[in-house]
Amino acid sequence: MIVMKFGGSSVANASRIRHVAGIVKTQLSKKPVLVLSAMGDTTDHLLEAAKLALEQGKVEIKNIEKLHLETAKTLKLPAAQKEITVLLGELTRLLSGIALIRELTPRTKDYLVSFGERLSVRIAAAHLKSIGMNSRAFDAFELGFISDSNYTQAELLKESWDLIPEKILPQIKGNVLPVVTGFIAKDQKGSITTLGRGGSDLSATMIAAACRAEEVQVWKDVDGILTADPRIVKNARPVQHITYDEAAELAYFGAQVLHPRAMQPCMKTGTPVLVKNSYNIEAPGTRIEQTSASAKKAPPVRAITSKHKVTLVDIVSTRMLGQHGFLAEVFSVFAKFGISIDMVATSEVSVSLTLDTAYDLAEVKKELNKVASVEVKTGKAIVSIIGNVKRSSEILARTFKICQLIGIPV
Ligand code: ASP
Ligand code: MG
Repeated sequence: MIVMKFGGSSVANASRIRHVAGIVKTQLSKKPVLVLSAMGDTTDHLLEAAKLALEQGKVEIKNIEKLHLETAKTLKLPAAQKEITVLLGELTRLLSGIALIRELTPRTKDYLVSFGERLSVRIAAAHLKSIGMNSRAFDAFELGFISDSNYTQAELLKESWDLIPEKILPQIKGNVLPVVTGFIAKDQKGSITTLGRGGSDLSATMIAAACRAEEVQVWKDVDGILTADPRIVKNARPVQHITYDEAAELAYFGAQVLHPRAMQPCMKTGTPVLVKNSYNIEAPGTRIEQTSASAKKAPPVRAITSKHKVTLVDIVSTRMLGQHGFLAEVFSVFAKFGISIDMVATSEVSVSLTLDTAYDLAEVKKELNKVASVEVKTGKAIVSIIGNVKRSSEILARTFKICQLIGIPV
């Protein structure tokens, strides 16, 4: 068994869905499970519709309706068209509710965005069926995806590890090709949750790991993970092998490859993650696994990535040197305001840290000023060099030399 994941742009319209079907067809002997995102920018469109209902009391889903109904029509899927109409009716009622009470809780928001994936799998499964595959659409929560109730950022519960294979493996045995919604789950109260934006990658790796699949393929429109952002670095090349840790760091520090949390399930089981290009099927793509086979031959630097619009906070203790509890106090202030810290550098009396979202730091500053002087600098960038830690002195020496030559203060 393998898991194949296709993101929003891969299922954005009828011709892209046909293209996906072509790729799936070549791998039927490997018993694939498909995981799909919402079509195109549907998730964003749903959030916009929610905003309109909330702020202006208007219910407007024309673009969502048009995309899905036209796709089903183009692909000649009358039964799916009916299913879509039913779901769109439910969506309209939900938006009417939001428009009426002018309230949008995180729980309702998750229920609302879940329509994107629920619509896309029904269209795709119906298309695969229409061209002869034994496909069936599933909402992830029918297949054991159970999460906590941390709406919009839910975490899957341990039970999912047993429930998912319990539900999916019999389908595979019965020669069914499951087409599963990425991104969504249900909590123990039965409410729909989501795993965070871009969470479909995690849905796919979770299925693969829990079912001990041979591999999980994440299909993109680039040749795998690249050595750098091709929009900035013209001669960026695909990386053929990379470890889970390296891939997670890359994702976390700004490379738009996989959801940073997506590596976690496969790290536990050692399930390989393959990043492939749906527009260049022959290209080997990137293989992510525990130890990369080519580690010895690999160049010291695997990839470079950058993150922009970073906020740097310099905190200098105003207390005596060596005072205990300073760091604990600093971090507890950030925790209190729910601010996630990115990187940290410390000395005896000072801490510098970075935040990757624009937070309003007025209150934080006020609290911190009780024990420290604080300076906030916005518009900074983080450049991350992912490579062989054993050669870090050499890598850093060369990097700093270059920064000096081009006049960038580090
Ligand atoms: N559709 C969701 C999003 O746009 C999940 C995903 O694409 O992975 O964030
Ligand atoms: Mg998406």
